[in-house]
Amino acid sequence: MRIDAVSIFPDYFQALDLSLLGKARQAGLIQFQAHDLRDFTFDKHRTVDDTPYGGGAGMLMKPEPWGLALDQILEEETDATIIFTSPAGEVFNQSLAYELAQENRIVFACGRYEGIDQRVVDYAATKGKVRLISIGDYVLNGGEVAAIAMTEAIVRLIPGVIGNAESLIEESHSGEGLLEYPSYTKPAVWRGLEVPPVLLSGNHAAIAKWRHEQQVERTKRVRPDLLGE
Ligand code: SAM
Repeated sequence: MRIDAVSIFPDYFQALDLSLLGKARQAGLIQFQAHDLRDFTFDKHRTVDDTPYGGGAGMLMKPEPWGLALDQILEEETDATIIFTSPAGEVFNQSLAYELAQENRIVFACGRYEGIDQRVVDYAATKGKVRLISIGDYVLNGGEVAAIAMTEAIVRLIPGVIGNAESLIEESHSGEGLLEYPSYTKPAVWRGLEVPPVLLSGNHAAIAKWRHEQQVERTKRVRPDLLGE
């Protein structure tokens, strides 16, 4: 998979050099490239924003640099998915991460200020599949953190990125869609706090039953919406 991100703060994406994503890049499992939107401006101040038509608070990102950036990055590409990070988009979740992990090519457009001129979104639709995606019902200052969060969630699902593929099956939001059970490691007693005895029993059926009960209880308590309640 190839991922590009367009931003006025491309340095944010240095985080993707680290940990498993960094290893995935080194191993050639993904290619990632961050682009500075200001490289597609021609004035002395490398301007990317202007006042919104119709008035209103704040500035908006101008279409011209975005058009040039998309032209350069996508060229003749037609099957790319272009994701505009936006609090006004569909909400990102694990099933969307699985869906996007099937793509060959993703381009993240990271907004700043009050967002991006709508015509950029319309123009991008002539270059690939456009999606507006939010990482949650809150407002960030820019789309970089959202693009990094989505990249991590997507890329870890690509075969070979996570050493033990089993861990993808057992975790929260997978399988039945429940939250994960509480987990414990050694020592068996720490500061007077004990590991639940069933986990020390060696009885795999009893452990599986306990874990499932914990998943259901936790999901009901913390995220009843996941159970349709
Ligand atoms: N005026 C916009 C609105 O009300 O929907 C908010 C703009 S926000 C200050 C600036 C940029 O941050 C957005 O264009 C988007 O790229 C990014 N952003 C903010 N919150 C986000 C979220 N929850 N998910 C994804 N991107 C977000």
